[in-house]
Amino acid sequence: MELHDTYNRSIDYLRVSVTDRCNFRCVYCMPPEGLELLKHSDILTYEELVRIIAVLTREGIRKVRITGGEPLVRKGIVDFVRAVKSLGSIDDLSLTTNGSLLAPLAEHLKAAGLDRVNISLDTINPERFHFITGNCGQLSDTLKGIESALQAGLTPVKLNVVLSEAVTEADIAYFSELVIAQPVAIRFIEYMPIGHGGVGPGMSVQTVKELLEKYTANILDPVASNGKGNGPAKYYRVAKAKGCFGFITPISEHFCGSCNRIRLTADGKFRPCLLSNQELDIKTPLRNGATDTELVRLFSQVIGQKPGEHKLTGDDHGFKRKMSQIGG
Ligand code: SAM
Ligand code: SF4
Repeated sequence: MELHDTYNRSIDYLRVSVTDRCNFRCVYCMPPEGLELLKHSDILTYEELVRIIAVLTREGIRKVRITGGEPLVRKGIVDFVRAVKSLGSIDDLSLTTNGSLLAPLAEHLKAAGLDRVNISLDTINPERFHFITGNCGQLSDTLKGIESALQAGLTPVKLNVVLSEAVTEADIAYFSELVIAQPVAIRFIEYMPIGHGGVGPGMSVQTVKELLEKYTANILDPVASNGKGNGPAKYYRVAKAKGCFGFITPISEHFCGSCNRIRLTADGKFRPCLLSNQELDIKTPLRNGATDTELVRLFSQVIGQKPGEHKLTGDDHGFKRKMSQIGG
């Protein structure tokens, strides 16, 4: 079965936030004092999440990404991964993490059925890493997390670099070395003004491309899209490199025309678009005994609400929830 929205986009991807909690306070994501947290009783249980995912896979969802907040701070995450993979109908089960708690979990997550991970790493400088993470994170933990993910075969490992003003030319030089040595996809993401704003936007994608070419002493060779809706990044190869670069440009060149995803927040709201405040409550009907057919009807309703494109420019447009509360 294939699902399509009103703009004829095929919807096969669900991003599931399992928590709004996080052990970091990244300056572009959360205020230093943190955000008001959901009550435990408001967060969907793993059983509720698995039921929703099971119903949606029967409707055509084939890709699931687990996110947060920081998904690895929620207890029982390995068993949850196992339960989702055991449904047998997910082609691609992935997880986005800040990497700090990954090292001891990577093998277990792989054994439970996780296919791959995306890890956030903006800088290789320990002091700036500490600053970016709101004085919470240690660079060495995230680097260990990356190494463990590669060793466990949670591949392809993708690194997310948010282009805030805290990223410097020295970081771009480091990523240029890393792409040669390691089989990682290093993706530069344009800063979105929907988080805390404790730091401003940084280098433009064009500047980053020029610096990557300078430091790799190579040209970036565009990889043709395979047309399978493989996500918003545009990828580039570099000669003799084990890895590759990607660019995600929600602001300067949005990719709404090929958007294939729906989000589910930790407190049980479907969101048709990251960059719109529109939400549809699924937790209340679920807890009031909704049948599978009723859940499918709600899902169809949210797909019907997907906007043609977002309206985000460089300014904050009054987002009611921050990234960590939606599931970025
Ligand atoms: N805690 C996990 C992590 O950091 O990878 C998962 C949740 S986090 C909200 C998901 C992604 O959103 C991360 O790669 C993070 O860097 C990115 N992100 C957060 N705030 C952002 C912003 N204002 N602009 C662009 N990306 C942002
Ligand atoms: Fe936490 Fe991820 Fe937000 Fe950083 S970007 S504060 S790690 S949720």
